[in-house]
Amino acid sequence: MSKPTRRDVHVDEAPSAPRAAASDPEPDPGLVPDAETMRRLGHQAVDHVVARWIGLEEDRPWQGAARSRTEPLLHDPPPEEGGDVADLMERAVREVFPLAGRIDHPRFLGFVPSGPGWPAVLADILVSGHNVFQGTWLESAGPSQIELTVLEWFREWIGMPEGAGGVLTSGGSAANLLAVVTAREVAGWPQDPVLYLSDQGHSSLRRAARVAGFRPHQVQVIPTGADRRLDPVELAGRIEADREAGRTPILICANGGATNTGTVDPLEELADVAVAQEVHLHVDAAYGGFAALTPEGRTALAGLGRADSVTLDPHKWFFQTYECGCLMVRDTAELEAAFRISAEYLQDTALREREVNFGDRGVQLTRSFRALKIWLTVQSVGRRRLARAIGLGIELGGRVEDWIRDHPDFELLHPAALGIVCFRYRPRGSGEEELEELNTRIQDRLLERGDAMLSSTRLDGRYSLRFCILNHRTRWRHLEYVLERIAQEGRSLAAGDEVPR
Ligand SMILES: *Cc1c(COP(=O)(O)O)cnc(C)c1O
Repeated sequence: MSKPTRRDVHVDEAPSAPRAAASDPEPDPGLVPDAETMRRLGHQAVDHVVARWIGLEEDRPWQGAARSRTEPLLHDPPPEEGGDVADLMERAVREVFPLAGRIDHPRFLGFVPSGPGWPAVLADILVSGHNVFQGTWLESAGPSQIELTVLEWFREWIGMPEGAGGVLTSGGSAANLLAVVTAREVAGWPQDPVLYLSDQGHSSLRRAARVAGFRPHQVQVIPTGADRRLDPVELAGRIEADREAGRTPILICANGGATNTGTVDPLEELADVAVAQEVHLHVDAAYGGFAALTPEGRTALAGLGRADSVTLDPHKWFFQTYECGCLMVRDTAELEAAFRISAEYLQDTALREREVNFGDRGVQLTRSFRALKIWLTVQSVGRRRLARAIGLGIELGGRVEDWIRDHPDFELLHPAALGIVCFRYRPRGSGEEELEELNTRIQDRLLERGDAMLSSTRLDGRYSLRFCILNHRTRWRHLEYVLERIAQEGRSLAAGDEVPR
């Protein structure tokens, strides 16, 4: 039997609190208002959020401002005496929030959009109000159990073997950093370690490598061909060549939905290479991983469960509010070995065997209870409907591709994959040189008029517009509208009609 720990002390009855002494001042009423005021202010905050949610589609998808405008508008010195919190909330809603992207707007199709569901918002309110510290089991047995449960759901969905686990993080970048550091620690931090990724790999991987101490020449970026997939044969060749040159290949970072095009690397074959070469396989499935809940996504992501680690971003395609990322690992002991540091002032937090101090699985000791929003979403909506909401993004991507293939003035630059489609407006007879300016201007006009937020990318040097369709609110009518607006603006720009700005 292990010795009793502090977690074995159960307190079922409310403790007796010392009676308030007349001489003790009450807590500051701004920090702790009376119950009626708390309720009124709470309702006011919720009313603001509900008004935003129901008016979202009529709003514009983006609004920005230069610092020369935001500073005079919003920069104040800190007041010595405070003001009315209700008025200040009004001000934030009126002046601050509008100057931003509406990332969850159905016509926000740029970068990687995020449309949280209402359960996630509710959970955030509950979590803030309970102020959970989820770095140690001692301080969060219940919340830590919920995180274990949610991670177990993820494990099954992405097909990792029993015993795999993970940790929720601030996002995909943090998860990628944990993966890179873990692989480096498992490899024993050799003299000249090498990490491999394709030219479609996310920038956060290169940043993670830098933070983890890799020098630029130790990060091998492998060019991809027209399919934008990492070639396993070329990769194996590079690994062998590096090893012969006295270097130590330690990590392959594969795409499970590349941000540029949605491409998934050949994960089965890469897993074979990783096994044969004895290197760690990390799959960055930050945005794409939850597609594994759908039949099409599961096919596209075949092999995902064979990875040593997988990055997932519930705040992208799993309808969670920011910030909510996740790293899954085949072997949680390796993750903990990479990050656990003991300290005298944490001696009370020692564990029994099956309990987890989540602070040992990453760089955050103080961590919020992120798992609650995922738990509340899955418990209330159910796996089946969540899978349908994800599947809709994949389906709409295919429909956009078909529309573009049928339209003589549009050119498909990469087929739809996991909700992403890359294309450009290309009127008949136009030359390559003018297309970049034409498409940039189309993009700007749509943004200025509040039609859509689109971002662009480059594929083989060619400027590409890009739809990323992950939002559960986005429907075909929104996409068709944006495509038609692109065609209209394209026609008028190509015809030389100047529209006054
Ligand atoms: C978004 C994204 C990241 C970075 O995740 P954050 O949550 O923004 O930190 C990493 N990899 C891929 C593939 C992504 O799409």
